[in-house]
Amino acid sequence: MKLSRYLLPTLREAPSDADNVSARLMQRAGMIRKVASGIYDWLPLGLRVLRKVERIVREEMDAVGGQEILLPVIQPKSLWKETGRWDVYGKELLRLKDRKDAEFCFAPTAEEVVTDLVRREVRSWRQLPTMLYQFGLKFRDEIRPRFGVMRAREFLMKDAYSFHADEADASLHYQKIYEAYRKIFVRCGLKFKPVEAQSGAIGGSTSHEFMVLAETGEETIVSCSKCDYGANLERAEVKDHYAAPEASSFKSVTKFETQDKTSVAEVAKLVSRPLTDFLKTQLYMINGHKPVIALMRGDHEIHEAKLAAAVGSPALQRANEAQYRQVMGCKVGYGGPQGHPDAPVYADFAAKSVLNGITGANQDGLHVDHFNISRDLPALKGYFDLRCATPEDPCPRCGSRTVFYKGIEVGHTFKLGTKYSAVLKAEYLDERQKSRVMVMGCYGIGVSRVVAAAIEQGHDKDGILWPPAISPFHVALVVLDEADDARVRPAADSLVASLESAGIEVLEDDRDGKPGVKFKDIDLIGIPHRLVLSKKTLDAGEVEYKRRGVASFERWKLDEASDLLGALLAVPAL
Ligand code: ATP
Ligand code: MG
Repeated sequence: MKLSRYLLPTLREAPSDADNVSARLMQRAGMIRKVASGIYDWLPLGLRVLRKVERIVREEMDAVGGQEILLPVIQPKSLWKETGRWDVYGKELLRLKDRKDAEFCFAPTAEEVVTDLVRREVRSWRQLPTMLYQFGLKFRDEIRPRFGVMRAREFLMKDAYSFHADEADASLHYQKIYEAYRKIFVRCGLKFKPVEAQSGAIGGSTSHEFMVLAETGEETIVSCSKCDYGANLERAEVKDHYAAPEASSFKSVTKFETQDKTSVAEVAKLVSRPLTDFLKTQLYMINGHKPVIALMRGDHEIHEAKLAAAVGSPALQRANEAQYRQVMGCKVGYGGPQGHPDAPVYADFAAKSVLNGITGANQDGLHVDHFNISRDLPALKGYFDLRCATPEDPCPRCGSRTVFYKGIEVGHTFKLGTKYSAVLKAEYLDERQKSRVMVMGCYGIGVSRVVAAAIEQGHDKDGILWPPAISPFHVALVVLDEADDARVRPAADSLVASLESAGIEVLEDDRDGKPGVKFKDIDLIGIPHRLVLSKKTLDAGEVEYKRRGVASFERWKLDEASDLLGALLAVPAL
């Protein structure tokens, strides 16, 4: 490809609203242009990278028996009503009407449509398992689109859906997909980690997220330093690793005045005690009327989904002021866990370690000191996992130290069970002609997000550093002195021809212009290998070779360039 004919509008400065490294570099490298908030054009260079990722994903999906299809992006309301998602999806679902006022949505995902297809076309156990997948544009009206194509509103997703005769077959397939996903991200040249996306407490490990490790990632990953445990911070399990203090160290309970100081931080300052000496009491209501108390160590924040799982009720809400006064008998901030027989107390594991702690006295303006749960709270319901993991928590699986990473979620796999197939009646006839509900799995990859994630992981001050497998071109050939020396053009043409016949993709910078500007552009767009052909190199029958990100140069004989480069490209990506 000749750069003089290529739509590659590089920029010296990124647009001011590009808000992370990949958004800036993708705009500067002429890969994308913003059309509206979260909506982008993909220009030729960007599309080449997108297609390379797509190809790797396609090959690995085919290798595990996937069949590629293409589903509509405009989907009828009726199907979304059948699963109930029309009403629960909220504002992320873009809804539209046609000329007859019939309602539709723009697909944010495609479980409804694909399950509808399968319920109509797959009837017998002989046709199972079936996995269908597509590369399709998705639209989600994200509340805060940001980071260029990483959290866009319109984006390209590979979505796959598998249908099985039973749970066992679905589990077997899930393992295959897990391995296929690992292969995909290894082949893309990315550093990544698959993590559990649902904690044991919330419902077994039936979902994984594949995270590209990058400091700029939005997700926090808890990873074991020894075993292969990894989980999204939101979902990471915390095990009880706290010892209860010895009763011999207990002091007598005392009350003290804290006047208008209610928060743990304020009272801690007032009495010069660390937050870890506090027991924070928080009141919740189940269905608006049944009280539940959560007790946290003062330095910890509650994770409400974990509390809901421990209590066994999703309909849990923080008590309002009136409810608080009614149950605790005091203003918000002065409540303690003691003396509320109708409100069971769920304590976080870490609360157990608090010796002679401070908590509310259930009286306005007062707190108590030297509170010890085992002595002063006989009615405790028990200790539970009620918060996000911190670096002080060991691996829930093997007890070793954990490490925290930042990551970008590029893929997500789910065992769906019969969630969609039951409501949509996707059924098949088994060997005995008995009708049974299919068991499903679904598996997404944010193809456009992968492109941005690769840049977040691979860049330097000069621009992008592509993993070779997804680089838009294998090599850039910078041609200099064409106007001054008649030998240059034919030599460039013959070099390009020999490279291309060896299957090497060449971006040839044949533009007029200063060498410095050309080199800057090639560095910016991140092509891993660069050749320079000039009057000077031609005099020696040579071409200059440089690897992106490495300072030194080499000189190669012109007629060996294609073989030498071919050998470098065959070397697997580091
Ligand atoms: P997130 O938590 O980042 O919003 P999600 O859990 O909503 O992601 P899924 O519904 O699992 O995402 O979608 C599958 C994949 O699609 C994700 O793993 C991600 O790579 C990609 N994806 C999701 N939302 C976006 C978006 N707004 N922009 C770009 N890619 C996205
Ligand atoms: Mg989302």
